[in-house]
Amino acid sequence: MRQKILQALAHSRAIMRNQIELHDCFHNGNYAANTMECGQCEFEFECHWLCNNDEFVALEQKSMDALIDSLEFAQCYVDALVTRRGHDRRLCRCEVCAWLRKVRRLLREAQDL
Ligand SMILES: [Zn+2]
Repeated sequence: MRQKILQALAHSRAIMRNQIELHDCFHNGNYAANTMECGQCEFEFECHWLCNNDEFVALEQKSMDALIDSLEFAQCYVDALVTRRGHDRRLCRCEVCAWLRKVRRLLREAQDL
């Protein structure tokens, strides 16, 4: 289960990273809390999450509960993303919607443990 959640998080990182435009980033994608640049950036939200859920640093040491929290957050974010773009979350065949359905099942399973 832990491995499945880590995999799902890896995919959500890829989805979120695709949303961010780094060419204008003053910090080159390394989120710097409390700086003016990040505070005013339109990608602050995504960047902050990505830096808190880095595959090499944070995740391996996190508790199962913390991993589930991170995944729930990613789910909400991606959900808002596809809703804004008008996807039918139940029927759409795109990769992101498929991920969303998989994660919803996974979170239900994880909560039953
Ligand atoms: Zn879709």
